[in-house]
Amino acid sequence: MKELKTNVTIQNVWEARKRMSSIISKTPAVESFILSEKVGRPVYLKLETVHDTGAFKVRGAANKILSLTEEERKRGVATYSTGNHGMAVAYVAKKLGIKATVCISNRVPKAKVDSLKRLGAFIEFCGESQDEAGERCLVLERKHGLTVIEPFDDPEVIAGQGTIGLELLEDIPALKDVVVPLSGGGLLSGIGMALKTNDPSIGITGVSMVESAVMYESLRAGKPIKMPEKDTLADSLLGGIGMDNRYTFDMVQKYMDRAVLIPEDEIAQSMAFMIDHHRMILEGAAATGIAALLGNHIEYKDGAIAVIITGHNVDLTVVQRILNTYNPA
Ligand SMILES: *Cc1c(COP(=O)(O)O)cnc(C)c1O
Repeated sequence: MKELKTNVTIQNVWEARKRMSSIISKTPAVESFILSEKVGRPVYLKLETVHDTGAFKVRGAANKILSLTEEERKRGVATYSTGNHGMAVAYVAKKLGIKATVCISNRVPKAKVDSLKRLGAFIEFCGESQDEAGERCLVLERKHGLTVIEPFDDPEVIAGQGTIGLELLEDIPALKDVVVPLSGGGLLSGIGMALKTNDPSIGITGVSMVESAVMYESLRAGKPIKMPEKDTLADSLLGGIGMDNRYTFDMVQKYMDRAVLIPEDEIAQSMAFMIDHHRMILEGAAATGIAALLGNHIEYKDGAIAVIITGHNVDLTVVQRILNTYNPA
């Protein structure tokens, strides 16, 4: 495997695990008998939905914020994500008694603003786009010394997500393949590094939606690229990877064995499948991993497969719509 310029190590992941233990609990890995039967090997669901915020992003946010100095904590943290990362930053900051500012464009839906407020975040409205909110965040950093918590391209965030890899090694001794929803790549970088450092024969599959798969297209182009965002059920997988990406582009290139892209109708079908067979609500991003299995998009070796069930934050109106068009196979 190619040497990386910048390195997040397995020691960093162990440190993350220790640092986070006061606020993050280990999550269950449960076998799905119906999926095991369909695929012909044991399939485990790694339930990152059980965190308080309903998604894995609390791991990276917790490790990053806990690694700040006393001085930095006093000045506070900032983010411009309104999705699972923004919720995670607000949640962790509240637990630690740190002030969190979320920069939000005036176009963000009220329901999202309300749930961030409920977590005690300080909301700053700025401009009409995500870009303007991001710029405001940088001003807060320069002028007021707030620390901007990056959603994926940060060593502490990557190490935090990597703790999922340690838990998989402990709980699934026969593990041979892991299916990881992929956007900015913090999750895949952390899990991939943690697993392959221990056992290079474990296969890592990255899954994205067909529309706006920015990491996938960037890897093909050999450098970070920009793409327009299209509507998708996997909204948590939207967003660029950063034109000046420092860590995750190289790490995903190094640790991902194969990439799979899932069309929208299969994401919908997989969300409904999980409600039908497991009585579990998944958001579209998490359902891409299930779709990769149901659609036979991957050829596996022997041994157990783990699918990272990354989150369950989806509007019930979306769930309703999906159930209406569900067609049980
Ligand atoms: C952020 C997120 C992902 C992708 O994680 P990256 O580190 O950006 O690749 C997948 N699923 C859910 C639910 C997310 O919130």
